[in-house]
Amino acid sequence: MDTAKQTLGSSRLEFLVTPALVDIVMHGKFAMLSADQPSTGLQPFIVPSGDTAELRNQQTTFFTLHGERTSMTAADSAMLNKLKPRAPMDGTEAPDQFKRMALLIFVLFGPGHVLFIAYDAFVLNLAQEQSQLHRYKKLHPIDRLLFWVRLMKRNALQLSSWFEEVSLSSGPLSPVRDFTKVFDQIRDEESWEPKVSTTLLEALKISALTSLGQPSLAGSSLSGMTGSMTNDSTISGETSVGTPRPAPAEGNDRVTKVDFLPMFIKFKQDRSKTQEIRKSILRNEKPPLPKSKVSPADDMCLAWHTNGGCNKNCNLHKDHVKYTKAAAEPLHQWCVTNWTLLATN
Ligand SMILES: [Zn+2]
Repeated sequence: MDTAKQTLGSSRLEFLVTPALVDIVMHGKFAMLSADQPSTGLQPFIVPSGDTAELRNQQTTFFTLHGERTSMTAADSAMLNKLKPRAPMDGTEAPDQFKRMALLIFVLFGPGHVLFIAYDAFVLNLAQEQSQLHRYKKLHPIDRLLFWVRLMKRNALQLSSWFEEVSLSSGPLSPVRDFTKVFDQIRDEESWEPKVSTTLLEALKISALTSLGQPSLAGSSLSGMTGSMTNDSTISGETSVGTPRPAPAEGNDRVTKVDFLPMFIKFKQDRSKTQEIRKSILRNEKPPLPKSKVSPADDMCLAWHTNGGCNKNCNLHKDHVKYTKAAAEPLHQWCVTNWTLLATN
């Protein structure tokens, strides 16, 4: 685990190897028993953190339990082997939990394993997508928490179903899920959120929310989440006072370019996602984009110029301005050279 931390540059992260985790690993119980049981399977809800004193304690107990002689009762053992799944307490904690999951996969399967590569890509993307995730920061704390819970549940389900497929099949390894797809879906304002049941919330010890009539618990779409912002009063208990919040219309984060330059039409029609292209630039597989004429420290926004629109929260939003054909030519050249067009048929 220490080597993994060093390799992944996560030395500051603590990681508890609890008896329950050892149990899952030793017995190959990688798949969740059900989507609502976050104490089962190998998934980000259970990745344990905490202080090392507790770890040492638990480990001592574990080895005592599994040694020749033990004075522990079966009940003690059962209690110790219970995993405590939890929801992240805030926005910074969630990425850490995902990172711990990557560490665990690294240790269990090795750095060259397809699962590690796929999951590590997610962790890397999560760090890069902060500006895109910005809209979630504006949500009510409960909705923000639920955002992370949903993201975790999504990864949990994807991991679990993959483990299940692998355990059922005797043939070649099933293709690993693309964990990073969620960022494209968020950007494209597609619905990506798995449902969050009361059972799951109870297991995560945040069931108290359910009794408050939190409207977004049942909803599974982004509009459900933002819609619930207007119902803050239900949660906080302020029934009549408070400033009314405007209900954001669905899709209002989208900004459309009115003066689309026809020279980009070939790229607009291509099904490649600009997000994917930007990712390959980050991986140094493609050269950097030309710089913005309005903000020379930043790149030009690929989506804005080639798609004719982008997101209001885009980190390159300064570049969302009109370009003349001549000014856009460097980007056009970049596309001609570096944009691999997908076959259209
Ligand atoms: Zn943009």
